[in-house]
Amino acid sequence: MEKFNCDACGLCCRHINRSDWLEDFDSGNGVCKYLNTDTNLCKIYDTRPDICSVERAYKKYFSDQYSEEEFLRINYEACEILKREEKLFDKMKEMYERDKNLIQHRSEEL
Ligand code: SF4
Ligand code: SF4
Repeated sequence: MEKFNCDACGLCCRHINRSDWLEDFDSGNGVCKYLNTDTNLCKIYDTRPDICSVERAYKKYFSDQYSEEEFLRINYEACEILKREEKLFDKMKEMYERDKNLIQHRSEEL
Protein backbone atom coordinates (compact mmCIF):
# COMPACT_ATOMS: atom_id res chain seq x y z
CA MET A 1 0.00 0.00 0.00
CA GLU A 2 1.12 3.54 -0.79
CA LYS A 3 2.36 5.25 2.39
CA PHE A 4 -0.29 7.33 4.16
CA ASN A 5 0.83 10.94 4.52
CA CYS A 6 0.13 12.12 8.03
CA ASP A 7 1.17 15.66 8.98
CA ALA A 8 1.08 14.80 12.71
CA CYS A 9 -1.58 17.41 13.53
CA GLY A 10 -2.66 15.08 16.37
CA LEU A 11 -6.38 15.65 15.81
CA CYS A 12 -7.32 11.98 15.42
CA CYS A 13 -5.53 11.19 18.70
CA ARG A 14 -7.45 14.03 20.39
CA HIS A 15 -10.84 12.64 19.35
CA ILE A 16 -10.57 8.91 19.99
CA ASN A 17 -13.96 8.98 21.75
CA ARG A 18 -15.50 9.03 18.27
CA SER A 19 -14.57 5.42 17.75
CA ASP A 20 -15.05 2.25 19.77
CA TRP A 21 -11.63 0.90 18.85
CA LEU A 22 -9.60 2.86 21.40
CA GLU A 23 -12.05 3.11 24.30
CA ASP A 24 -9.45 1.97 26.85
CA PHE A 25 -6.99 4.65 25.71
CA ASP A 26 -9.27 7.61 26.45
CA SER A 27 -8.00 9.99 29.16
CA GLY A 28 -11.63 10.88 29.86
CA ASN A 29 -11.85 13.86 27.53
CA GLY A 30 -11.46 12.09 24.22
CA VAL A 31 -7.70 12.59 24.13
CA CYS A 32 -5.58 9.45 23.95
CA LYS A 33 -3.53 8.92 27.11
CA TYR A 34 -0.53 8.10 24.94
CA LEU A 35 -0.54 11.38 23.04
CA ASN A 36 2.19 13.83 23.97
CA THR A 37 -0.01 16.93 23.89
CA ASP A 38 3.01 19.27 23.62
CA THR A 39 4.47 17.67 20.51
CA ASN A 40 1.33 15.91 19.14
CA LEU A 41 3.40 12.75 18.86
CA CYS A 42 2.46 9.28 20.02
CA LYS A 43 4.40 8.16 23.10
CA ILE A 44 4.09 4.50 22.08
CA TYR A 45 4.51 5.01 18.34
CA ASP A 46 6.50 1.83 17.71
CA THR A 47 4.04 -0.34 19.63
CA ARG A 48 0.82 1.58 18.88
CA PRO A 49 -2.25 -0.56 18.13
CA ASP A 50 -2.85 -1.73 14.58
CA ILE A 51 -5.89 0.54 14.28
CA CYS A 52 -3.59 3.58 14.68
CA SER A 53 -1.60 2.62 11.59
CA VAL A 54 -3.45 3.07 8.30
CA GLU A 55 -1.34 0.44 6.58
CA ARG A 56 -1.62 -2.18 9.35
CA ALA A 57 -5.32 -1.47 9.99
CA TYR A 58 -6.03 -1.99 6.31
CA LYS A 59 -4.22 -5.31 6.17
CA LYS A 60 -5.73 -6.62 9.40
CA TYR A 61 -9.30 -5.32 9.36
CA PHE A 62 -10.38 -3.67 6.12
CA SER A 63 -8.79 -5.30 3.10
CA ASP A 64 -11.92 -7.37 2.42
CA GLN A 65 -14.14 -4.26 2.42
CA TYR A 66 -12.13 -1.65 0.53
CA SER A 67 -9.48 -1.36 -2.09
CA GLU A 68 -6.22 0.25 -0.91
CA GLU A 69 -7.10 3.44 -2.82
CA GLU A 70 -10.57 3.64 -1.26
CA PHE A 71 -9.21 3.07 2.23
CA LEU A 72 -6.57 5.78 1.81
CA ARG A 73 -9.18 8.20 0.46
CA ILE A 74 -11.53 7.52 3.40
CA ASN A 75 -8.71 8.18 5.84
CA TYR A 76 -7.68 11.42 4.10
CA GLU A 77 -11.33 12.54 4.15
CA ALA A 78 -11.58 11.81 7.87
CA CYS A 79 -8.46 13.96 8.48
CA GLU A 80 -9.98 16.80 6.44
CA ILE A 81 -13.25 16.65 8.39
CA LEU A 82 -11.38 16.86 11.70
CA LYS A 83 -9.32 19.80 10.42
CA ARG A 84 -12.40 21.67 9.17
CA GLU A 85 -14.17 21.11 12.49
CA GLU A 86 -11.14 22.37 14.40
CA LYS A 87 -11.02 25.55 12.29
CA LEU A 88 -14.73 26.10 12.88
CA PHE A 89 -14.29 25.52 16.60
CA ASP A 90 -11.41 28.03 16.75
CA LYS A 91 -13.52 30.56 14.85
CA MET A 92 -16.43 30.10 17.28
CA LYS A 93 -14.07 30.48 20.24
CA GLU A 94 -12.72 33.70 18.74
CA MET A 95 -16.27 35.06 18.21
CA TYR A 96 -17.27 34.07 21.72
CA GLU A 97 -14.25 35.85 23.23
CA ARG A 98 -14.92 38.94 21.12
CA ASP A 99 -18.58 39.07 22.18
CA LYS A 100 -17.70 38.43 25.81
CA ASN A 101 -15.25 41.35 25.80
CA LEU A 102 -17.78 43.56 24.05
CA ILE A 103 -20.51 42.76 26.60
CA GLN A 104 -18.08 43.37 29.46
CA HIS A 105 -16.99 46.68 27.93
CA ARG A 106 -20.60 47.84 27.49
CA SER A 107 -21.63 46.84 31.01
CA GLU A 108 -18.70 48.88 32.37
CA GLU A 109 -19.94 51.89 30.43
CA LEU A 110 -23.43 51.70 31.99
S1 SF4 B 1 -5.83 13.72 11.77
FE1 SF4 B 1 -4.84 12.85 9.99
S2 SF4 B 1 -3.10 14.19 9.58
FE2 SF4 B 1 -3.79 14.58 11.68
S3 SF4 B 1 -2.52 13.20 12.96
FE3 SF4 B 1 -4.42 12.13 12.47
S4 SF4 B 1 -3.91 10.93 10.66
FE4 SF4 B 1 -2.37 12.49 10.84
S1 SF4 C 1 -1.90 5.16 20.63
FE1 SF4 C 1 -0.73 6.78 19.72
S2 SF4 C 1 -1.37 6.86 17.57
FE2 SF4 C 1 -2.92 5.71 18.72
S3 SF4 C 1 -4.47 7.22 19.31
FE3 SF4 C 1 -3.00 7.06 20.98
S4 SF4 C 1 -1.50 8.67 20.61
FE4 SF4 C 1 -2.64 8.32 18.72
